[in-house]
Amino acid sequence: MKSVAHFNGRKGRAVMLAIIVAGAFLAFPAPMQPVRAHAPSQAPAERPFGLPFVEPPGPSTWLMVQPYGNTVGAFRQRNTTYRAGQGLHFGIDFAARCGTPVVAIGDGVVSEVDAMFHGAGPHNLTIDHPNGYASFYGHLLERPALSPGQPVRRGQVVAKVGDPDGTCRSRPHLHLEIRDAPGHRRAYNPVQRIEADWDSLALIGGFSRGFQRDLADPRRWQFLDDQPEVSFGGPLLNDFANPWPPEWREP
Ligand SMILES: [Zn+2]
Repeated sequence: MKSVAHFNGRKGRAVMLAIIVAGAFLAFPAPMQPVRAHAPSQAPAERPFGLPFVEPPGPSTWLMVQPYGNTVGAFRQRNTTYRAGQGLHFGIDFAARCGTPVVAIGDGVVSEVDAMFHGAGPHNLTIDHPNGYASFYGHLLERPALSPGQPVRRGQVVAKVGDPDGTCRSRPHLHLEIRDAPGHRRAYNPVQRIEADWDSLALIGGFSRGFQRDLADPRRWQFLDDQPEVSFGGPLLNDFANPWPPEWREP
């Protein structure tokens, strides 16, 4: 048989080896997305959550204006607003008009309504999810019409976007966090846990100020998906000796 004869000798073994290797790749295909070198190891393989809005992004609906992590804005307020979160912006900010419907990012159970120790007023909401995460929705327009213990479904309208200043004219936005459940003591990067085209969202949202740099290690924490976890009450992570942009104080 001619085909069997081909597998005799060195050349034959090489052909057989190539067939075995190719078969292994077919049986265990490589992931579609190459693993990025700067992605932290603790990120889950799949993103279990959806975006907190019904409508697609855009100038008439919503835009991402500040990502999670070591942002310039958080660095400047690391000793005040963001001190409890180790100096990082421990959620994602989505600019939207007051009253824009906010939906649950996953199935879960309401755990807190207007828990004021979380800040992010005037109103906020926490949902615990069965996968060990919680989602937190801050700067809501009004107290959500939900009670602790109430189940909610992914995509269900649970709140309305508000404004931390209460005017609906200065800076209306949703501040969205992903924490551990049920403790709510750690914050995780939503970029790695919500299915979305984050690179495009960063572009169209105009996140122009970027991440704060530590000139001793200027490439650290410069990407949407390499930001560290936050342990509330822990030490500052970004109290850099030689920061860029340079130190800045409230006028
Ligand atoms: Zn925020």
